[in-house]
Amino acid sequence: MAVATVPLVKDEGTFRYFLEGLDRQFADIGYARTRLEYAQRMGEPFDPGERARLDAAADALYTAENHEVIRRWGSEVDDPFLRRWATLLDQDFTVARLEQTPALRQLVHTIGDRYRDWRPMLDGQVLAYTEQTRIMRHELDRSRRQRAWSALTPLGEELAAITREMFSLRNELARVEGFDTYADMRLKYSGIDRGWLMDRVAQMEETTAPTYTDYLTEQADKYGIQDAQPWDIQFLFDQDPWPDPAYFPADKMIPNLFACAEALGEDTQHMNIRVFWYDSPYGGQCMNYGPNDVRILTNRGDGMIYYHTAYHEYGHAIHSWYNRVPYTMQRESSMFSEGMAQFMALFVHYPSWLRKTGVPEEVISTYRNTRKLPWMYRHRRIIADVAAELATWDDPGHDFDESYGQSTARYLGVGYQPRPFAATPRWTSPMRMHSYFIADLIAAQTHAYLRREFAPVFGSNDALAHVRRHYWSTGNSSPWLERVEACTGEPLTYHYLGLEMTEPLPEA
Ligand SMILES: [Zn+2]
Repeated sequence: MAVATVPLVKDEGTFRYFLEGLDRQFADIGYARTRLEYAQRMGEPFDPGERARLDAAADALYTAENHEVIRRWGSEVDDPFLRRWATLLDQDFTVARLEQTPALRQLVHTIGDRYRDWRPMLDGQVLAYTEQTRIMRHELDRSRRQRAWSALTPLGEELAAITREMFSLRNELARVEGFDTYADMRLKYSGIDRGWLMDRVAQMEETTAPTYTDYLTEQADKYGIQDAQPWDIQFLFDQDPWPDPAYFPADKMIPNLFACAEALGEDTQHMNIRVFWYDSPYGGQCMNYGPNDVRILTNRGDGMIYYHTAYHEYGHAIHSWYNRVPYTMQRESSMFSEGMAQFMALFVHYPSWLRKTGVPEEVISTYRNTRKLPWMYRHRRIIADVAAELATWDDPGHDFDESYGQSTARYLGVGYQPRPFAATPRWTSPMRMHSYFIADLIAAQTHAYLRREFAPVFGSNDALAHVRRHYWSTGNSSPWLERVEACTGEPLTYHYLGLEMTEPLPEA
């Protein structure tokens, strides 16, 4: 598929030609990877040798030679589009070539395979992840919650040493590129730094503290729990504030989703975005199967959280649909991509769409006040992970179970328990957790702007046309923080999310 050649670049025209050729090959590999993953997930036939072939094809493109051409000509050409494209490719090559290091690839595969095959045990039986989540959220028997929470400990112990090794090696490789840690490299490439991130984290912590603490106390009293522990927190925070699942039946989910897009002016008939049911440990997934073929795999179930997931994936899908810049320029910082997904997901929560969904007025008015509770829990849970991850980048040799336990105690307001850091199946794709927090800042601020400028947002195409112009059709042709500012009229701030965490949900 990919052929390694010595690129003959001698001016702007040949550099463009070189980038276009590279882009076509990356697109072929990317779509082939998606088709393979889709076949694996959906139980369709696939060639088991395909993955290694695609890895080899990508390796043949991510060469030092190609990287050198991108770096050299990217700084010499005048065309701002080509310069931007070269900057993105330079960063992409740096990260990809680092991941190609055989020792690192070996570690990532070993850990990834173990995550995939390992299953927690509870009382001598295999515990499915969906069942574990149900227990953490709804199980009245506290000791059973504790045992389900502790079920990950053996995996944490087993993977501790190899996880340390993976963090250390990534750090070592990032140091060659001139960064203190791998985390700092990834943050810089995504357009932010630790100061920027932790500033918003601090605002979140401060803004949510009073309500968070009060509700925790209230719920702990209600359920007779004296000293809330990590295995109590989801149970206390994440079950009572939601509307009755009966208002969000699984069989109405897809029509409801498409009706929402149509009410916002989208012609869903002429967009090849399809939804398929799938039992995913992550809730859902959006796949770019081809340039005009976007597929959503999502869990089927009754309740607002299932609708939320389907809308979230639809946000990814619609973003991809309108993103028609070269393939390698479509890739975004995960903060921004997740922001586009959460932008769409928020429609499920606001009163205007709840009303159109047929949720009774008294249920809406209760939810306007309770919706902030699971969301502040979610942000604090994310940040507990982020803090532990950053501490591990700073010193992969430290006791990460202890610091994970401490960050959990601090942000979730529970007792300290050592927490098995290496049992968290996300460190193979590092520096992503913070994206889910920043995504909500982007979504809340964008919605606030649309309400101000385009209300009512349903029934006209203007609001989404604005979003398409600034966020979707541009691809990554300018830094995402600049696009957020251009779209909403101000730099990205915690302010609007903060309002949603302190006031009733807004009408629009
Ligand atoms: Zn997502």
